Amino acid sequence: MMRAAGLTDYQRLPVAPVAFDDTVRALGGAGFRGANVTIPHKQAALALATSASAAAREIGAANTLAFGDGGEIAADNTDALGLLAALGEPPPVSALVLGAGGGARAVVWALTRAGTDVAVWNRTPGRAEGLGARVVTRPVPAEVLVNCTSVGLDHSSNQFQDLPLDADALGEYATVVDLVYRTGGTVLIREAEQRGIRTVDGLEILVRQGALSFTLWTGLPAPLQAMRDAVRDSGPQIRVP
Ligand code: NAP
Repeated sequence: MMRAAGLTDYQRLPVAPVAFDDTVRALGGAGFRGANVTIPHKQAALALATSASAAAREIGAANTLAFGDGGEIAADNTDALGLLAALGEPPPVSALVLGAGGGARAVVWALTRAGTDVAVWNRTPGRAEGLGARVVTRPVPAEVLVNCTSVGLDHSSNQFQDLPLDADALGEYATVVDLVYRTGGTVLIREAEQRGIRTVDGLEILVRQGALSFTLWTGLPAPLQAMRDAVRDSGPQIRVP
């Protein structure tokens, strides 16, 4: 599928922040079609771009860059629409978002534009102000719970110690989403599954945002199942930076 779309390779390239701009410009000149960008480069990617989608501009971060033949760099943010694609139609009526960092910003942007009533809880409440959603100081019931904090990243972490939720309170949500991706799944996702709650894990969101990037670069639908298989077969090296 990659070759059929005119792509020959997809490489992981760790880059120090100080080298980000030069590296990205060099990639465009070296025949790369585009790049996925992750922590901590998403704001730098937007600043470097010569044009940006409304999503990237309004979220204030880019996770996808597309290189033009004349040195143009177009920025987009597929994290937002990747979440909506993973949730499916219709969008939820209400959502509780945990966290107020870059991931939460994209999630709140996507959900509010889809018409969802969004409440945000963050450990540092002041950081949640200005996201464009109602700030809450304790969890409220909603159709969907979305963990956008980095809690759960650490294998030894029990998310219920750091998040303001008991596992038994998960019954207040019809769907539980965890942006954190980790081989074997997170405690939050496992506990929700055990209670028969619909779940969307971070790997599915990763695949969905990557699929949207693929389409931006190629104009073709992405090979979703092949991407899922590749991500889920990657073993323990699938770790968040
Ligand atoms: P970020 O900007 O660093 O934000 C981190 C968030 O986690 C903040 O809200 C922070 O709260 C909260 N937090 C950190 N430690 C905490 C703790 N011990 N207790 C409670 N809250 C805590 O990170 P981000 O870019 O939003 O990413 C968050 C997670 O989502 C990461 O694991 C990232 O890899 C993942 N992500 C996944 C995808 C995907 O495709 N699956 C896409 C985007 C992000 P404070 O404000 O109080 O510090």
